[in-house]
Amino acid sequence: MSQTDGYTRFVNRPLGKQIAKAAGLPQPVPLRRHTLGDPLVTGPILILGESAAAETVAKQLWREEYDVRRDVGLKQKFSAIVVALDEIRHPQDLSDTVLELGQALRRLDSNGRVITIFRDPNDASVANDATALAARRGVEGLTRSLAKEMRRGATANGIVLSDDVEMTSASAQSAIRFFLSGRSAYVAGQFLTVSSSAGEVPSNWDTPLAEKVIVVTGAARGIGAAISELLARDGATVIGVDMPSAGDALTDVMNRVGGISVQMDITAEDAGVQLLQKARERFGRLDGIVHNAGITRDKLLANMDDSRWDSLIAVNISAPLRINEQLLQARGDGVLADNFRITSLSSTSGIAGNRGQTNYAAAKAGVMGMTQAYAETLGETGGSINAVAPGFIETAMTDAMPTATREVARRMNAMQQGGRPVDVAEAIALFHADASAGINGTTLRVCGQSMVGQ
Ligand code: NAD
Repeated sequence: MSQTDGYTRFVNRPLGKQIAKAAGLPQPVPLRRHTLGDPLVTGPILILGESAAAETVAKQLWREEYDVRRDVGLKQKFSAIVVALDEIRHPQDLSDTVLELGQALRRLDSNGRVITIFRDPNDASVANDATALAARRGVEGLTRSLAKEMRRGATANGIVLSDDVEMTSASAQSAIRFFLSGRSAYVAGQFLTVSSSAGEVPSNWDTPLAEKVIVVTGAARGIGAAISELLARDGATVIGVDMPSAGDALTDVMNRVGGISVQMDITAEDAGVQLLQKARERFGRLDGIVHNAGITRDKLLANMDDSRWDSLIAVNISAPLRINEQLLQARGDGVLADNFRITSLSSTSGIAGNRGQTNYAAAKAGVMGMTQAYAETLGETGGSINAVAPGFIETAMTDAMPTATREVARRMNAMQQGGRPVDVAEAIALFHADASAGINGTTLRVCGQSMVGQ
């Protein structure tokens, strides 16, 4: 399995580029991805808007010696444009800043970033204020549409602040760093909602997971292996879990990342208890879990049999529910961290539905329900629970799809290419960082703004 698909390689050579342009074919470009020590961006960052949030972002980036500009100027190319719209009260307030953004867009570099900052439309303060609510929803709409107008690997995403949260908060900083950097390569047209000021800025943004011990289920291959590698890169120690039949592959991954292996079927009745026991023995602590293990058993519902339905529900949703219950019962025992973090793999199929996947979609939508339900309890002690919904990711699973179906699925998104396991892993790592405590109960799509779904 190649990291960049053959078509993307072809259209990035001179002849391929010419042919694709003449025939009006998709022209995906290689995406900028983060490696340890990379700056957030390499060129100038334009900050539009006059609000306190705009000032905060400008000061923070300027302090880190980024080239910050406050007006569009004449010729300057930009690596990123941050648009602060957090003080607008009426849709008509949008025009000055948004039209200025329009002028700057032509000068956005390949793999550039546009980030809007605005206030949460779901905040109680605007529940009955039609004008303010229309303005806030308006920013969502324009951000999603702009994301679809982006070219050459550039993305547009938004940071949504609750009314009592400022851009100075740790999670707002965590969110803007994620969106500016190559960590968000395959996230487009999405929003990170910062609902509280909880969280701490790390002493080093390169190792936000230093000293954390995190369980990753389904760690032997695919997305789970990539998550294990990335959590280790960001400083964590990983307890990797997979089926005994995948034991050798699991050992290879854990040797690579300096983690430990637990060969176990996650549907075991006492899976959560076993994991706690292992964490207690080996490390005396447990800071988080990533529910990544998952299976597909596709069939139209008319042809669905008991075993396909039941085995999928057992692995993809019943096991995470049971493990969470067992882990959370151990709160206060000194092993489970007070600010315990849970992340889970959902799927765009759980949001939009997918033919042949009623069982899978029930489970993956269920993951989003589970995420909402635990948010308050975990948030009380500085913890959090979030989900990541991947779209088309280049793995052994998607490699096995019929060629025509795969090619269509791969191009049906704003980036015109599939994502990589590392793109999903970056989003998981974001949620496990102490700095991200104020982002809780959300599902982030990592789908290149797939045309499938909302
Ligand atoms: P994969 O099949 O390559 O890997 C899944 C891993 O989970 C395997 O190592 C498998 O042995 C393990 N596993 C399965 N059942 C288990 C059990 N009962 N106990 C312990 N381990 C078990 O899958 P992937 O493509 O890497 O997907 C990982 C997750 O991401 C899954 O939850 C999947 O539904 C989700 N996802 C994947 C995609 C994609 O495009 N690949 C898209 C959306 C969501």
